[in-house]
Amino acid sequence: MSVTVSVVVPLYNEREVIRESYRRLKEVMDGTGESYEIIFVDDGSRDETWPIAHELAEGDPRLRLLGFSRNFGHQTAITAGMDAAGGDAVVVIDADLQDPPEVIPQMIQKWREGYQVVYGLRTKREGETFFKKATAKIFYRTLNALTEVDLPVDAGDFRLIDRAVCDTLKSMPERSRYVRGLVSWVGFKQTAVEYVRAERFAGTTKYPLRKMLRLAGDALTSFSYKPLKLSILIGALVSAGGFAYAVVIICQRLFTDILVSGWATLACLTLFFNGLILIMMGIIGQYIGRIYDETKARPLYIVARRVNFDEKADRNDNR
Ligand code: UDP
Ligand code: MG
Repeated sequence: MSVTVSVVVPLYNEREVIRESYRRLKEVMDGTGESYEIIFVDDGSRDETWPIAHELAEGDPRLRLLGFSRNFGHQTAITAGMDAAGGDAVVVIDADLQDPPEVIPQMIQKWREGYQVVYGLRTKREGETFFKKATAKIFYRTLNALTEVDLPVDAGDFRLIDRAVCDTLKSMPERSRYVRGLVSWVGFKQTAVEYVRAERFAGTTKYPLRKMLRLAGDALTSFSYKPLKLSILIGALVSAGGFAYAVVIICQRLFTDILVSGWATLACLTLFFNGLILIMMGIIGQYIGRIYDETKARPLYIVARRVNFDEKADRNDNR
């Protein structure tokens, strides 16, 4: 069955929102008059997300389900949804209704006008903590300053992509996936639609600090070498400083009676520079770890169960 629009929804422990999310999505998609499918990707939820999704899918063949064997992460869930999507356009949207489904018709409209990527731009964020807003703000701006790719600031993964873009993404096998960055990287004709990011419908965020840091690390290492270059810069500065200081000491020894100061200075210097070296090694380690992940070439995700997928769609997922 070929469809025009596929809507991909990643879910992790979303039992409080899943029914409402499905209802709103269905309502909006029915209103567009397009043929569509909704793909729920259950990212190894530990609550009743799967049974509820299963119940919903039994009453609606256009609702398709993928269930991971464990929690693989938001970005991987999106990737799996895109891999399985059969539509001419693919929309990615969060399950918690923070991205209003009502924006999708506008996205489809832009797509019909010939744009191949339509991303949602958050003009305002409601009901998120100051910490989340501040870290997001700093993160997107730092990332932009550090990368050569032009990554739109304040855009999440809520977006519509054309089949051509989706196929390009599918051909990119990299493991540390920062999907919104990859979408910017591939280019094509892109535009934005603005929206207000609403409050979570129910439940709590599934993005603890640990996962946010992981996402930031993936984004940085996938799109920038500048952290590595940083060590060259700092190394050069420190050497220059050390050299200048040596000249000062030699002059003091030769031309004055000042005694060259002792071990406290040395201890401080040693601690400072050893710390610096360890930090730099850590940065290099981050890149090496990711290279290691790539070379192991394990599958990106493991689909343990699927519902309402036919054989043809089956071939596409789980690479
Ligand atoms: N999510 C997921 N796997 C995870 C964490 C989150 O699939 O490991 C999904 C989650 O169910 C939601 C979306 O990713 O649909 C965004 O997560 P959340 O709303 O918790 O993040 P926030 O909006 O707080 O950044
Ligand atoms: Mg959310």
